[in-house]
Order: sequence, then structure tokens, then C-alpha cells
Amino acid sequence: MPSLTPKKILIVEDEPEIAKLVKLYMEKAGFHANIADSGIEALKMIKSERPDLMILDLMLPEIDGIEVCKRIRTSPDTALLPIIMLTAKAEESDTIIGLELGADDYVTKPFSPKALVARVKALFRRLERTNDQTQSSLSFGTLVMDLARHEVTLNGKEVSLTAKEFGLLEHLLRQPGRVLTRDVLLNSIWGYDYYGTTRTVDVHIRRLKLKIPLLDEAIISVKSLGYKLSDQVSEK
Ligand code: CA
Repeated sequence: MPSLTPKKILIVEDEPEIAKLVKLYMEKAGFHANIADSGIEALKMIKSERPDLMILDLMLPEIDGIEVCKRIRTSPDTALLPIIMLTAKAEESDTIIGLELGADDYVTKPFSPKALVARVKALFRRLERTNDQTQSSLSFGTLVMDLARHEVTLNGKEVSLTAKEFGLLEHLLRQPGRVLTRDVLLNSIWGYDYYGTTRTVDVHIRRLKLKIPLLDEAIISVKSLGYKLSDQVSEK
């Protein structure tokens, strides 16, 4: 179903020429685009009007793209905001840090604006697929979660999970490749008023890995933030 309102994109870039060019191409592609010329400005803007996707330059004055990304991911309100990072070739190690901290994709400068538009569209498509609430099942390799029957099978054999383990696994399966912070998981599965600590999440992740060996390598711990499900099923 095509959406009636154009998707909103926030471009965070301190170089006005690049920002304007990206805005132009995004608008040509049918998106609504705004520019923030610093990380602080971007963080302010997403509070007043939530974009559907952020294009975030790595090199920004005051706080850089990595820090912006980290702050967005650790705040439950914005944790799932899709982010494409813009980086320069020389910053490849920073790029990896950026992806670890939860950027969904990255584009290396210099880039063609058309290619960036294609990446934005691809990310929206990917997210629409995984966020589809009408799906009756979710899967990861030989692991299948039947949502209607509330049943999980591995290689066709039923795995017995507690309600919390089921909820945790469902969140991971719905967002492959995306970093989910402990706070976000705790709030959405245990609820805001849950009296516990983020360690609860670690304990449940460990139990899931014990019950489903396939997840042992597939659930990746992201330094100081939380967890993500690998977006690729390992052959093992
Ligand atoms: Ca820059």
C-alpha cells in the first residue's frame, strides 16, 4: 500500500553544498527533506518532528555522527530511527564503529546522490518487510516462530520458551541487523514499570542461546549498548 504522506528525511550535514544536493535529490524522489547542520541541531529537531529516516554525516562539528547515533539508539523514543551514515574512505574504521553503534547502512563519500536515493529506498523496503505486523511467522534459518500459535521450532522440533524469552526472540527476529539496546528491550518486553535491571536482558539472552544453539553466534553483543541479531544466517 503506498503511503499518502511523503516520508520525512532528516539530512545531518555541515557542508551546505552537499546537504542541499542531497535534499534536492530526496525531494525529486518524492521524500520530504530537512537539513540539520550539526549533531546538536539534529537531536533538537528529532524531538520536535520525528523523521522517518536520518542521513547522518560522520564528521560534524561539536558532537560527531557516532555520538549522535549513540544518543539516538540509547533513547527509547528514537531507538529504532533508521540511520544511513555518510563517511569518507579514510574513516573506514570509524564506519565500522558507526555500524556497531547502530547505523543501518553507510555510504562512502564521494557518493552519487542517485545511489544514496537507492540506498534510502532499499532501507525503507527492508524495514517495511520486517515491521509487517500482519506476518504470521518469522524465521531465521531453520528457526521458525509461528506467531499465531505462539510456537517456536528449530529444525522442525518445538523449542519450549517462556513468555519473556518468546518476546525477546520476536523483537530480535523482527529487526535483524539492528542494534536493540537493553533499555529498549527491557521497556518493550518487561514494561516501563518493571522493577529490575538491564541485567535481566543479559540473563534472558543467555538462556535463549542455550535453548537455541543457532543463536549462540547469531545474537551479537554490542559493546555497552545491547544486542543485535546478525542479518545473515551462518552456514554452521
Ligand atoms: Ca561533514
